Amino acid sequence: MTDPVLSLDGLTKTFSEDGKTCPALCGISFDVGAQEIVCIMGPSGCGKSTLLRIIGGLEHADAGTVQWDAGNENGGLSAAMVFQDHALFPWLTVEENLVYGLRLSAQRVPEDEIRRRADTLLSLTHLGAFAQVFPHQLSGGMKQRVSVARALAVKPDVILMDEPFSALDPFTRRELEDAILEIRRDMKTTILIVSHDPEGAVYIADRIVILSERPATVAEIHSIDLPYPRDPADPAFIRLREQVTQKVLGKQGATRQ
Ligand code: ADP
Ligand code: MG
Repeated sequence: MTDPVLSLDGLTKTFSEDGKTCPALCGISFDVGAQEIVCIMGPSGCGKSTLLRIIGGLEHADAGTVQWDAGNENGGLSAAMVFQDHALFPWLTVEENLVYGLRLSAQRVPEDEIRRRADTLLSLTHLGAFAQVFPHQLSGGMKQRVSVARALAVKPDVILMDEPFSALDPFTRRELEDAILEIRRDMKTTILIVSHDPEGAVYIADRIVILSERPATVAEIHSIDLPYPRDPADPAFIRLREQVTQKVLGKQGATRQ
């Protein structure tokens, strides 16, 4: 791992339900290196989204710390979030969705720079021909690409994605995974992805953090040392996918349907 840009130390969170307190996260600690892709996996309801929301500052932990790289020139790093349901503004075109955050941003980005960034991101996410259409005219995969491009528009140091592929068919999913690998290469972004798909995780991640049943603890961290681009038919790939599947689901995995 490169120098950490993000260090999680002892994150703990308890929710109150029906007057009872129910722990969700229990002492989660791990580091994320610069330009790393880390996938967070674990059983449904174990606390993955809660962890991502705490990292993104949308929720407070009861105990523990989220520490960003202190060496950054702004005195802290910025994070952007991509949600499972893409959360696009239906009344704005693809291009307007993309630059909406930039126009509001305290960064006060000049208009010609906004245009330049929009063009770069539209081409990186293969959406150039769709700049002027509205979200309802796009497929699920395209909407999700707009959502990723929109998060990238503010040039975040870290991008946080909560199950960004789960509503997509396998072919579209693979396209988006390839787009994310290109984005990391071209924009040097650090990427944290909550996923429930072992094949996708082994395809893109440098490391996979597997959480236990709720209350979530870090059960295991797998380093995926296969070179990119990875081949899902490679026996080493299949072995890793099986290991991850067994750990997450406690059973034998199958190739993607
Ligand atoms: P995951 O993303 O791994 O499926 P979540 O982080 O969404 O899990 O939720 C973890 C657990 O905490 C779940 O059992 C969920 O019902 C509970 N939970 C999440 N948010 C809240 C909340 N705001 N209030 C009460 N319980 C919550
Ligand atoms: Mg979730």
